[in-house]
Amino acid sequence: MTADLHAAALDEVERKEFVAAATAFLEANAERLPAAEQFEWGRGSGHVHLLGREVEDPKALIAEARKWRAKVFDAGFGWLGGPVEYGGAGRHHDLDGVYRHLEGQFDVPDQSAWGVAWEMVAPAILVHGSEDVKLRYLRRIYRGELLCSQLLSEPGNGSDLAGLRTKAVRDGDEWVVNGQKVWSSYAHLADLGQLMARTDPDVPKHQGLTMFLLPMDTDGVDARPLRQMNGNAEFNEVFLTDVRVPDANRVGAAGRGWAAVLTTLMSERAAVGSGKTSAASDPALILLEVARHVDRISDPVVRQTLAEVLTHRKLIEWVGARGEQLVASGASRGAEGSILKLLSSRQIRRIANLAGDLLGPSFMADSGDWGTYTWSNYLCSTPGLRIAGGTDEIQHNILGERILGLPKEPGLV
Ligand SMILES: Cc1cc2nc3c(=O)[nH]c(=O)nc-3n(C[C@H](O)[C@H](O)[C@H](O)COP(=O)(O)OP(=O)(O)OC[C@H]3O[C@@H](n4cnc5c(N)ncnc54)[C@H](O)[C@@H]3O)c2cc1C
Repeated sequence: MTADLHAAALDEVERKEFVAAATAFLEANAERLPAAEQFEWGRGSGHVHLLGREVEDPKALIAEARKWRAKVFDAGFGWLGGPVEYGGAGRHHDLDGVYRHLEGQFDVPDQSAWGVAWEMVAPAILVHGSEDVKLRYLRRIYRGELLCSQLLSEPGNGSDLAGLRTKAVRDGDEWVVNGQKVWSSYAHLADLGQLMARTDPDVPKHQGLTMFLLPMDTDGVDARPLRQMNGNAEFNEVFLTDVRVPDANRVGAAGRGWAAVLTTLMSERAAVGSGKTSAASDPALILLEVARHVDRISDPVVRQTLAEVLTHRKLIEWVGARGEQLVASGASRGAEGSILKLLSSRQIRRIANLAGDLLGPSFMADSGDWGTYTWSNYLCSTPGLRIAGGTDEIQHNILGERILGLPKEPGLV
């Protein structure tokens, strides 16, 4: 994989051949979903999801996703733009997006838990990891063998991540870690933690941090799930007591963890903002059906808001595609991810507000009317997405400083 290869647009013949091969694979292994245009009120589960969902047996869901992903990877569709030496297919970067789009049209296991692994942890390993770390982890991550969790935020340090206090002290070929993390999504189910720790307390805060890959079954790691207001319990507080992590699992040089975490955060903002979803489960499109169901589709005020929702849906898609193009041309992700994250966070509030307006009481109390009460879970998830991956206020600071050239926020990067 080279920047030159990615700079070139995807050849149309290659795209067509790829679509034919991927569609044949998907048709042989999964059921095609009804097309979005055929979305039928009253058919299917009617659930609208924003931030995970309550499942009876999350471990079974993870196992099912792992099995599916291994099949996809072994068929050559798992990491199309990735370098061959680390398990990728060495093909054009755009093909990953093309495959995701095609897969979204089929009924396949939910792989959203791997977002952290594929969109956030793996990019940092690829840029900053040693050859050994890349060889040991990347293939397994993209094959779905390793579910990852980010162990970055702490009770007193979320926005001010560089102020984190979890300590790692070198002891021979290992580091001994003590501290506490919080809001760590999927930590209770994960195989691998992307751990940020302070390894040098005597230098300015950004210079004393190091990133490690921590096997979550290591002695001294205690992940305790926290229940969120949307009813799900996906994230955790994680206690780390005398945890020993091999130096060989360091990502980047000791004290250079900030550079590695920036790669993760830029990818995270783009991923959190991109709202990748299949057409059949797109809340913006389902909202149209809600308006029809409650017979408000001709209401001029509703139509105006629906037009705003659908316009922003396109805007988000295009801004996301521009970011992907930048990365594909060899550039690293920049502050543009913050634009996408802000667009997305406003869009989900716009959608939740209109759903509330359309549904009235059945939005908040389960009236038994199909496809209505599910929107309360959507609404209760919206604040989480204003916060995860850096709050809206922090995204404004980043845009102000890095794009508009305004004076720097005191004490922040
Ligand atoms: C759904 C969800 C999933 C998450 N998953 C993970 C995960 O997997 N791993 C992980 O490590 N963390 C995770 N987080 C944590 C997330 O990154 C932090 O919550 C976030 O960075 C904010 O930090 P904080 O909660 O400490 O809030 P604080 O930093 O204490 O902020 C409190 C308020 O002050 C504002 N504020 C703070 N500093 C400034 C400033 N300089 N200028 C203007 N306003 C400011 C903030 O915008 C916010 O409104 C997750 C959070 C959520 C909601």
